[in-house]
Amino acid sequence: MFNSGEYTYKIETFYIFVAMNAGKLQTPIDYLKGVGPSRADLLRSELGIHTYQDLLNLFPNRYIDKTQYYTINQLQPTSADVQIIGKVTHIKTVGEGRSKRLVATYIDQTGAMELVWFKGLKWIRERLKINVPYVAFGRVQRFGSTYSIAHPDLELLEEHEKGLRAAMQPVYPSTEKLSNRGITNRVMNGLMQTLFQEVHKELDESLSPGIIEALKLMSRKKAYLNIHFPQKQENLARAQFRLKFEELFFIQFQLLVKNLLHKKKIKGYAFEHIGENFSEFYNKHLPFELTGAQKRVVKEIRNDLGKPAQMNRLLQGDVGSGKTIVALLTMLIAIDNGFQACLMAPTEILAIQHYQGLSELCQKLDIKIALLTGSSKTRERRVIHESLEDGSLHILIGTHALLEDKVQFKNLGLAIIDEQHRFGVAQRSKLWHKNDLPPHILIMTATPIPRTLAMSVYGDLDVSVIDELPPGRKAIKTVHRYDNNRLKVFGFIRDEIKKGRQIYIVYPLIQESEALDYKDLMDGYESISREFPMPDYQISIVHGQMKPDDKDYEMNRFVNGETQIMVATTVIEVGVNVPNASVMVIESAERFGLSQLHQLRGRVGRGADQSYCILMTGHKLSEDSKTRLQTMTRTNDGFEIAEVDLKLRGPGDLMGTQQSGMLNLKIADIVKDNEIMKAARGYASAVLKEDPQLQKPENLPIRQTYAALMKFKNIWNYIS
Ligand code: ADP
Ligand code: MG
Repeated sequence: MFNSGEYTYKIETFYIFVAMNAGKLQTPIDYLKGVGPSRADLLRSELGIHTYQDLLNLFPNRYIDKTQYYTINQLQPTSADVQIIGKVTHIKTVGEGRSKRLVATYIDQTGAMELVWFKGLKWIRERLKINVPYVAFGRVQRFGSTYSIAHPDLELLEEHEKGLRAAMQPVYPSTEKLSNRGITNRVMNGLMQTLFQEVHKELDESLSPGIIEALKLMSRKKAYLNIHFPQKQENLARAQFRLKFEELFFIQFQLLVKNLLHKKKIKGYAFEHIGENFSEFYNKHLPFELTGAQKRVVKEIRNDLGKPAQMNRLLQGDVGSGKTIVALLTMLIAIDNGFQACLMAPTEILAIQHYQGLSELCQKLDIKIALLTGSSKTRERRVIHESLEDGSLHILIGTHALLEDKVQFKNLGLAIIDEQHRFGVAQRSKLWHKNDLPPHILIMTATPIPRTLAMSVYGDLDVSVIDELPPGRKAIKTVHRYDNNRLKVFGFIRDEIKKGRQIYIVYPLIQESEALDYKDLMDGYESISREFPMPDYQISIVHGQMKPDDKDYEMNRFVNGETQIMVATTVIEVGVNVPNASVMVIESAERFGLSQLHQLRGRVGRGADQSYCILMTGHKLSEDSKTRLQTMTRTNDGFEIAEVDLKLRGPGDLMGTQQSGMLNLKIADIVKDNEIMKAARGYASAVLKEDPQLQKPENLPIRQTYAALMKFKNIWNYIS
């Protein structure tokens, strides 16, 4: 958890808790009584603790609650550290050599369990008292139907009742190296005590009296005291709330400030009029009535574009929600204002589909559209380059090829990026360095980022959401089938093909074992070819090891309806649109992540017919896999799926490594503390509205804390 790769991020997040006066808090950790040079080195390398302040902000992972006693029949496989009053009735030595251990039978009125020692057997055997009440404390494990504690803390009940102890004992993050070198949790608790005596006078308030009053927050000093030395559950809870709120408040505050600065500083082209192309298309050529959500989003975008500031907008909409038409309308606004627009897609297939689709939609308009991909011929390229530079080309659609240096627009006013998760941030910024003034940016994604997360990740991006599907869509029916039901599944596929439908069969592709996956795919292809023989059936196959030309050829055969079955790896995941395909079979579905399953499922259900998604797995499934499969069969709602995904995987994984650092919060949990985050955002925005310069005396604490925060180049900068 605390490897050195993450170290820089950690340090930066720590500074959220910086109080202004550097004073004692910045003292190097070496100077703390009980630390010394070698422990200081360990604290630095293992936990990134350099100063007093860093140590103060090392928050416990959990607390051992010694106010609670368990009886043996209350134990559960998930119980962690417990204390149990009981008696030892038997002691025996079992095993030989290295597996030799001492096993004591430990009972209370409700049942029996085992206490086990692997070391110091003789010493313990001599001292253990039979049939005398003890308090045993430790981590329970279950073996078969028996619970046991290895190397328990054992104390005679009589002694236990005399002793005075901290009710809630903090457990700090640690590493194997730390505990091997003697920095145990007990040592950590001791250091924290020494530290607190040194620095408690410097723990100044960081929030305004108004906020503290409104939320009945514990003071900052008291919160630190209670987080490290809690006496009561209730105070601990208040301390946690206070520190979580503070952390989230300053994150939100910073994002909001950035958003304001952004609006002020980054000028953009104001697209003031809604002109001919937009109006004509909107009134005469829309192939369908827009959904309410589409209308709302178009309005949001129009408003935004009308201002002389760069738009930075994320458009989220589930697969099939109709983002493309919104993209087109946005591009038409740019064109009507005398600007060019581009649309960048993550794959060539997708770029081609966009090109074909948009060309068709724009048929009746006087608009020139071109396609540029890696396989565009030199001649075509030259024509495109020229017409881009003289301004006669209005819309350029393509892949990464759009980012080549030779591609120079006369006046790019809008860049749309489809399926953003395939592009790195660096590429985004490259796009907007093509002009004097940056173009407006619209990022479209079908990977719904839970709103909660979007707020903290994209706090300085505006977000539009299409949360409504076009009418008449039939919900995709999703089922989970075990591999031994494959024949039935084949029968179902045969029936669907008879009705004229097309089928996807997808195999996992995971980088680490590409060779294995390839074998799975080929074995699958062979058995499917046997089940669905030519000439009655035609099968396409697409995978990552094919040449792009071959891939496109196979893909096109399926798109054109020449083949009924498409056997593929996840290369077809994003965006491909074949409305006649109505069945998606996902092999080894347990190996896919939730968002990927949802993306794949989105390839069907695009036409008028009832569509199906069949998740094939073996019988051996992990708990997480089961949750994923159940979620998929329960709901089609991308947002709900994203929330579950977030809970299963944590924000780091969900967002990709690049973003995980940002979400590496010290104490708050982006999922669980969602409500606190909303409150923090509300208060931060109220403060900024009333006192944008933070000049009121009551806001001085916020100003000081924020200033300290800004002294350090922080991780959120990467966003734009
Ligand atoms: P995505 O958001 O996944 O990119 P698309 O823009 O490809 O979705 O739209 C999916 C399908 O729905 C397309 O065939 C499109 O023509 C159709 N569509 C989009 N909006 C509407 C609407 N308001 N009414 C009917 N069909 C629509
Ligand atoms: Mg799309």
